[in-house]
Amino acid sequence: MTEKRVYIFGNGKAEGRADMRNLLGGKGANLAEMNLIGVPVPPGFTITTDVCNEYYAIGKERVVELLKDDVTKAVQHIENLMNSKFGDVENPLLVSVRSGARASMPGMMDTILNLGLNDEVVEGLARKTGNTRFAWDSYRRFVQMYGDVVLGMKPTNKDDIDPFEAIIEEVKEAKGVKLDNELDVEDLKELVKRFKAAVKAQTGQDFPTDSHEQLWGAICAVFDSWMNERAILYRKMEGIPAEWGTAVNVQAMVFGNMGDTSATGVCFSRDAATGEDLFNGEYLINAQGEDVVAGIRTPQQITLEGSRRWAALAGIDEETRAAKYPSMEEAMPEIYKELDAIQTKLENHYRDMQDMEFTVQEGKLWFLQTRNGKRTGAAMVKIAMDLLRQGMIDEKTAIMRVEPNKLDELLHPIFAKEALAKAKVIAKGLPASPGAACGRIVFFADDAAKWAKDGHKVIMVRIETSPEDLAGMQVAEGILTARGGMTSHAAVVARGMGKCCVSGAGMLNINYKERTIEVDGLTLKEGDFISLNGTTGQVYEGQVTTKAAEVSGDFADLMDLCNKYSRLQVRTNADTPHDAQVARNFGAVGIGLCRTEHMFFEGEKIKAMREMILAETSQERQKALQKILPYQKEDFKGIFRAMDGYPVTVRLLDPPLHEFVPHDDKGQQEMADAMHVSLDYIRKRVESLKEQNPMLGHRGCRLGNTYPEITQMQTRAILSAALELKAEGINCRPEIMVPLTGIRYEFEAQEKIIREEADKLFSEMNTSIEYKVGTMIEIPRAALTADRIALHAEFFSFGTNDLTQMTFGYSRDDIASFLPIYLEKKILKFDPFQVLDQNGVGQLIKMATEKGRSVRPDLKCGICGEHGGEPSSVKFCHRVGLNYVSCSPFRVPIARLAAAQAAVEDTL
Ligand code: ADP
Ligand code: MG
Ligand code: MG
Repeated sequence: MTEKRVYIFGNGKAEGRADMRNLLGGKGANLAEMNLIGVPVPPGFTITTDVCNEYYAIGKERVVELLKDDVTKAVQHIENLMNSKFGDVENPLLVSVRSGARASMPGMMDTILNLGLNDEVVEGLARKTGNTRFAWDSYRRFVQMYGDVVLGMKPTNKDDIDPFEAIIEEVKEAKGVKLDNELDVEDLKELVKRFKAAVKAQTGQDFPTDSHEQLWGAICAVFDSWMNERAILYRKMEGIPAEWGTAVNVQAMVFGNMGDTSATGVCFSRDAATGEDLFNGEYLINAQGEDVVAGIRTPQQITLEGSRRWAALAGIDEETRAAKYPSMEEAMPEIYKELDAIQTKLENHYRDMQDMEFTVQEGKLWFLQTRNGKRTGAAMVKIAMDLLRQGMIDEKTAIMRVEPNKLDELLHPIFAKEALAKAKVIAKGLPASPGAACGRIVFFADDAAKWAKDGHKVIMVRIETSPEDLAGMQVAEGILTARGGMTSHAAVVARGMGKCCVSGAGMLNINYKERTIEVDGLTLKEGDFISLNGTTGQVYEGQVTTKAAEVSGDFADLMDLCNKYSRLQVRTNADTPHDAQVARNFGAVGIGLCRTEHMFFEGEKIKAMREMILAETSQERQKALQKILPYQKEDFKGIFRAMDGYPVTVRLLDPPLHEFVPHDDKGQQEMADAMHVSLDYIRKRVESLKEQNPMLGHRGCRLGNTYPEITQMQTRAILSAALELKAEGINCRPEIMVPLTGIRYEFEAQEKIIREEADKLFSEMNTSIEYKVGTMIEIPRAALTADRIALHAEFFSFGTNDLTQMTFGYSRDDIASFLPIYLEKKILKFDPFQVLDQNGVGQLIKMATEKGRSVRPDLKCGICGEHGGEPSSVKFCHRVGLNYVSCSPFRVPIARLAAAQAAVEDTL
């Protein structure tokens, strides 16, 4: 805990710096840094994130007491630089009070602008600026924001609109105007009066007139907002700890609402959706703060090129565009030049794509925020590779810049070209966040959650979104809005979530009451299917077919770069030739786990399998196994062919046999007929196979050791498949894996059967092939005695699903009853079946690897389990010196990146 609670900045000086974001929050640290590098920023001060924690520890009163002197001095510092006085009637200083956490949480916390106004000060401001409309516009905005955020004003009607917005709508309607900026001074005065009356009516309090009282109210409200529902939800989603706290920034106001030489805007140094190296953004003349983001008026583009692209999408011709929607580059060329120069300077300084906020007050440009911009997975990859090529970052930095889990977005299906050609376009909006999405229309967040829970894919359709819609956006496949631009709430949040989003499709008539969308004579209801293309902004009726994504371009370059740095290899878990091929295309260098039981579930195969299980004597069993052999051999051939040149680890039969037998009358009768026995006999056999606790029962190598003929048949199927392919010139590298070893002799008995069968086969066929025999390590006893097991086993594969199950003693299938509560109470930090428990299960892996290699230095070790595709687990595997991880095909690129990052982290 540092004693210094308040850090000032202004006029090219600052007590903070960019690298103090933990203490000052991202916004505060960057406001300081911008000052230091000569970017024009209104002066102000930052109250630290530590104070937020103090606030929750010792309470409001004591924190205010602790801060009082520092804040008073800091306000004087602003007054001196701004040549005005806080609370003064003739020469008033107004400030904004802004939240700002360590990680950016867009739209999650509340900001108050124009603080310091009251009935007298507003008149003074009007006199000082000679702009009465501006003064009253600022005042009504302040009362509204303060009323919402600090005084907690709630909607009074069912429609759930902000009470102040409801009043504005009434006044606009009475006047017959559509836009806020069409209201005149008298209207604005009327608004303030009615706003204050509404506050009194709902809260019983008078609106505070003392500027210092207003300031403390706002500061405490920012701290309070750290614990509001949407902030908590966002933190949960992004894994941000509550202990980080938020800072509070208090800053002199600059005004974008002083007339036609004033403006406010948001801009990005590169395209946040595609990653393209193109300065872009939106602005509004004579507007303030979040007007651009809130979608109240349709914002205009900053650059000429952006404006032309926008017009093309909206179907507006060049003449109309230039006349009615000019870019800032055209409308304010001087300011534009300055803006462009500063955005370049900021990107060069931070060496990353910047997301910036600015305001122009009567021809003077001010920056209010810069941060590393949120971006889609595709943009993340492109920007990292572009910055590398442009010499702004090095290879290691490029690898570290990409978040492994974000690659997931690039692996999602996209619309198939042929399907698109036939699909009917019903609307066109802005390509706010790329990708393809298809689902049923829903309009409200709680409905989205309900529908999704019932297994429906949904598209969230809103006139515009607000933070209240977050829970719905989270479960939706995609988001469609009728209003709002590329920087609207919907667009920014969707890009952050990596979700497809089309925004500002103005031709849609969305009716929340009827739950319909009306467009061009067509009416779509809640539950109807629509499809979105977030890359082009097109909206289609019905379901459009998709196709699988591929690794190419920058993505492929990034993956090549990963190979250059990583030591850990990535294999895949695949049971079919198709999965094996998909994984290979994603860069898998082998199969770490091929489960043989999945091959049995279809058609004739399951019958033969059941016959084998239901057999009572070894002879009968062998007869049934002979039927299975050719099927197995063909399956293996397909997989070996797809993995030509790479190792394929095949696991011998593992699950409890009871899983395969028929439980219904029809199935049992079928087997009775096939085996020429009575139905009663089958019933009794099925009954006798039942186990109290099948997971700990007759399964794994216990099967192969009690029914050696199963191991013999599988060995024969694997090796004869390999031999046949070898004759075709395919390079097969089979690795036979014994499951569920607990005792070295279990493994050794299996190994003996395998080697004898192999020798028999080789002499029959008069040829041979190299193969390995190893074991899964998934029972704690096996890990503890790994140095014994490795005397015979040529490789270890850690089956982390079972190993987690047996180490914790949690049944994977029954964990749902207590896991959520454990997570909530922080007894568990995460689900150990998703994220490897490094302190427990991980230690068994580490120890077993070391013990195994102490007797067999070249022992190959890997993991195959859900964890093989989870970045933090992959990094752990690298650190304990495993040779590979194996994961599902679609996680392969993610694991490759995590493996490279782990190697880079070693060198940092
Ligand atoms: P958020 O974190 O939600 O972006 P901000 O604190 O950045 O909230 O503020 C909301 C809006 O108000 C932004 O558009 C910002 O640029 C604007 N704003 C904040 N402080 C000032 C100020 N002192 N003068 C002018 N505009 C401001
Ligand atoms: Mg905000
Ligand atoms: Mg902001």
